Amino acid sequence: MHQDIEEILISEAEIQQKTLELGKQISVDYAGKSLLLLGTLKGAVPFIADLARAIDLPLELDYMAVSSYGASTQSSGIVRIIKDLEGPIDHKHILIIEDIIDSGLTLHYLVDLIQRRNPLSLRLCSLLVKDRPRLKDVPIDYYGFRIPDKFVVGYGLDYAQYYRNLPYIGILKPSVYEGTKPETEHQSPAE
Ligand code: 5GP
Ligand code: MG
Ligand code: MG
Repeated sequence: MHQDIEEILISEAEIQQKTLELGKQISVDYAGKSLLLLGTLKGAVPFIADLARAIDLPLELDYMAVSSYGASTQSSGIVRIIKDLEGPIDHKHILIIEDIIDSGLTLHYLVDLIQRRNPLSLRLCSLLVKDRPRLKDVPIDYYGFRIPDKFVVGYGLDYAQYYRNLPYIGILKPSVYEGTKPETEHQSPAE
């Protein structure tokens, strides 16, 4: 286990197992259709990569990067598009792939934005859903795990851009938050 991690919440094997189940279910639900997986950068990248390989359908992949306006720690729900989709999505079935749904504000805005482009259908799949009241309702059609209202990292999820490469979902040690930088940043590969 990584030195900055206090507890592994979801193991690599559990993620793998759940991803296969979700892929099977999605393949059944969309049987006879083709599907565009819309991944949100950067957090959903490991999940969309594994999920895509568990889906047995004619599949397209595309990505959007969005960022909340404002400097506050709470997301404002007003979203700026950093990277948009490559083309129009009318006449396509869209499945948004998210890493985690917390307040729901960011995703609510994204769902609205995609809906206005008239896709054939729009659904949402998130690896994690936080056990807390949503500030905005989002229809969660597929999800992997419901987790407690704690800050988690790994498998795409970051703290200050680090820890995305951990193969599991874990809770960070409080000492990492209390310092300004992750402990690992002070290590060189030669050490
Ligand atoms: P919200 O649903 O509050 O608008 O924001 C969701 C976004 O906040 C996620 O896509 C993710 O980037 C970030 N986020 C929310 N909860 C967590 C968490 O526990 N860990 C990490 N690393 N990011 C989180
Ligand atoms: Mg996200
Ligand atoms: Mg982040």
